[in-house]
Amino acid sequence: MIWSQDSAVLWSLLVLGGVVGLAVGSFLNVVVYRLPAGGSLVAPASSCPDCGAAIRSYDNIPVLSWLLLRGRCRDCRRPISARYPAVEALTAILFVVVAVVFVPPIVGSHSVVGSIAGVLGLLAFLYLAAISVTLALIDIDTRTLPNAIVLPSYPVASILLGGALVLRGDLDHLISAAVGGAALFAFYLVLALVRPDGMGYGDVKLAGVLGLYLGALGWPQLAIGAFAAFVLGGLFGVVLLITRRATRSSGIPFGPWMLAGAWLGILFGGPLWSGYLALIGLG
Ligand SMILES: [Zn+2]
Repeated sequence: MIWSQDSAVLWSLLVLGGVVGLAVGSFLNVVVYRLPAGGSLVAPASSCPDCGAAIRSYDNIPVLSWLLLRGRCRDCRRPISARYPAVEALTAILFVVVAVVFVPPIVGSHSVVGSIAGVLGLLAFLYLAAISVTLALIDIDTRTLPNAIVLPSYPVASILLGGALVLRGDLDHLISAAVGGAALFAFYLVLALVRPDGMGYGDVKLAGVLGLYLGALGWPQLAIGAFAAFVLGGLFGVVLLITRRATRSSGIPFGPWMLAGAWLGILFGGPLWSGYLALIGLG
């Protein structure tokens, strides 16, 4: 078990993952707020949306500042949405989870090439964590998945995941990644053509990226990750109908469910698939 060796190193990496996740989450709040409006991501500095007062650097510490200020602007005392610290905390949790899954293979690798492959895999999934949080929130806010984030994800995923698999000489997973990307893209394209009101082309383009990631991990992850999106989205739709928050015709953004389903596949696809095979007597 890798965790017993070098555990101090691994714990430091997890803490580092959490701290980096908080900082990245803080930046993602800015992206979610400004990218759909077409604003610059780096300037001007953050200010209170109510009174316009500049946020002081010591009030800009992720999660902690919001708690210390009890969710209010220091200047006008009007409430600051709890979504900002929630996004920072969620990003940090995802970064730590990714570190837990993808750091041990790097530490446990016995070759330089294997370590580099492991680092590429780690970076690929940290990138996915960051765009997952951003795209889910922008889709909830605006019902769009911006090309500015989705399209560059194709080269980023191909280079990082493809690089890791080539270094490992893993032809099987290179094939399942390519097939996964093409298959999910094609499947969502058919859905968008059949039901244009239910599925958008943003969903189609995102599906290709998620298929690449899920396929790079393997067929079980691809199957579970793709299927889970519809289970989660469907359950949510049923809950909305029962609580009468929605009618059958009111569309819900599907991007967040595609992303949540993909993460379910990434983290639990392997064990869930083995359990399913055992259940139907094939395991
Ligand atoms: Zn204010």
